[in-house]
Amino acid sequence: MGGWWGDLALDEEDRIDAAEASRVVKRTFRLLRPYRRALIATTAVLVAFTLCMEAGPLLLGETINHGIAVRHPRMGVVELAALLYLASAIGMAISERAQIIMVNRVGEAFLRDLRNRVFRHILSLSMSYFDTEQTGRLVSRMTQDIDALEMLVQQGLLVFVQSILLFAAAVILMVVLSPLLFLVCLVLLPWVFQSSRTFRRRSNVAYLTVRDRISQTLSTMQESISGVRVIQAFGREEHMVGTFQGHNRAQLDANVDAVRISARYFPIIEFTTAFATAGIIGVGGLMVRHHLTNVGTIATFILLLSMLINPIQQISQLFNLIQQSGAALSKLYTLLDVRPDVAERAGALELPPDGDISLEGVSFTYRPGETDPVLTDVNLTVSHGERLALVGPTGAGKSTAAKLMARFYDPTVGRVTYGDVDLRDATMDSLRNRVAVVPQEGFLFHGTIRDNVRIGRQGATDEEVRQALEMIGALKRFESFPEGLDTEVRERGSRLSAGERQLVSLARAALANPAVLVLDEATSNLDPGTESEVETAMHVLMEGRTVIVIAHRLSTAERADRVAVIDEGRLVEYGTHEELMGAGGRYAALYASWAGGLGVVA
Ligand code: ADP
Repeated sequence: MGGWWGDLALDEEDRIDAAEASRVVKRTFRLLRPYRRALIATTAVLVAFTLCMEAGPLLLGETINHGIAVRHPRMGVVELAALLYLASAIGMAISERAQIIMVNRVGEAFLRDLRNRVFRHILSLSMSYFDTEQTGRLVSRMTQDIDALEMLVQQGLLVFVQSILLFAAAVILMVVLSPLLFLVCLVLLPWVFQSSRTFRRRSNVAYLTVRDRISQTLSTMQESISGVRVIQAFGREEHMVGTFQGHNRAQLDANVDAVRISARYFPIIEFTTAFATAGIIGVGGLMVRHHLTNVGTIATFILLLSMLINPIQQISQLFNLIQQSGAALSKLYTLLDVRPDVAERAGALELPPDGDISLEGVSFTYRPGETDPVLTDVNLTVSHGERLALVGPTGAGKSTAAKLMARFYDPTVGRVTYGDVDLRDATMDSLRNRVAVVPQEGFLFHGTIRDNVRIGRQGATDEEVRQALEMIGALKRFESFPEGLDTEVRERGSRLSAGERQLVSLARAALANPAVLVLDEATSNLDPGTESEVETAMHVLMEGRTVIVIAHRLSTAERADRVAVIDEGRLVEYGTHEELMGAGGRYAALYASWAGGLGVVA
């Protein structure tokens, strides 16, 4: 008792109702369809095991009736029975081994598929999903929920299915052999059911308490050790020891309570079994006297009794695990049902190789009905090959406008087009090929510099990776590392400087070689060693492409072909640097404040 079971105390959120449970079971069977053959074979083995188990009591009964408790026993009956008994024992051993392996194999294969499916699905979801769902919750879906299922497959599934089969087979045998004696057992079953239910409910409460108390003791210990200097400096040792002892005592009490509940339940089960045995002996004895049954049947019944009561006890103990797994599956299925907002529609078109990008009457709200519009009625065209700088204060909506151009989101009102094709009508593949986004800080993955650049275009050769780095002028720098492009960047690129990470991210875009580049200029000053290299890389990358750059530096805005000033979600000014300076409006004012500062805003 205790141990892993304590981890399985059910929280409220682990409960699902019957309707949900039936949906979960149906869907699980649908997902198991590819394993239909393995499932049929497994069921066959499970049934074989059950038959071997139940054969023992039956054989004994028949032997007594025909070979022992008769005046003129038939020849060879006892010997044959012994042989058959041995055969069923061998069958039991073989089928038991097979069923353990088969149930685990199917279960693990199902979990592998489920993990793959969930992971692929998470990556397919739209940005809007990640805005609302915390990454932590998603990770917990992948770990905790799947862990619960793992535990079910490894520790409970077989016992659960076996218990159901054994119970069902025992009931059938008993009814066939002697309905009257079965009634004697039946009278006791509600009592077993009820005490199992009570036990389950009470032990769940008890284990929740145990879990709580353990975490209290642990956190007191952790906190005191971390804060030991403060405790000693103020002479609070005794006080802390007192607090700890209190928690520790509470933990002991909770454990004793939990054990007490088990201690009450198990004798009840033993007693019920004994009581039923007494009933069978008493009623059965009378029946034999009146020739209503025979001695062998009574023996069979007594042996079958454990197969009637044990399964109830087993299932009751597995109940929490089953519930938790059901809840885990239900949560995972709910996640799998989330449809990406931004998805490719049927019959989507290839985008033309080049074209203008336009926002036409675009308004956008991150969560319609909940938040205010972030962009309102924006009309803006970036001609093919043109460089547009988006400027404006922080929170104005520049990044949002850029994200709409890459279809990270769809506009709430209006449309975004590329070469006159609404992005909603375009294939995702052609869109990702035409438009590349370089965020302020490129995310680096575990792996080498080469692997990280190759993210720009899957299947690019080593030579193409080199060329991309060469093109942006970063090859020398990375090749001078002792391990060159094979340098491991470590977790999130912690081995590289911010500027070097940015170079890798720019090389990715160079390798992707898109017609349109959406660039978010870094706001923070990079390390002086790489700043000018990053600037150069950006300029090389912009050559010959349509560029939308979220400009944080005045030099970037100045060099752009056109400048769009966005404020509070509206396009307030649009023109060349000179035109806007001449107009003496918002841009001129921003420019003046930039020039007065460090040349960086927002
Ligand atoms: P800028 O790039 O001009 O600094 P953004 O486009 O990032 O502005 O943000 C515009 C507004 O939208 C801000 O008020 C910001 O808080 C809000 N916003 C940005 N991203 C999200 C998001 N994922 N979910 C909800 N609101 C967002």
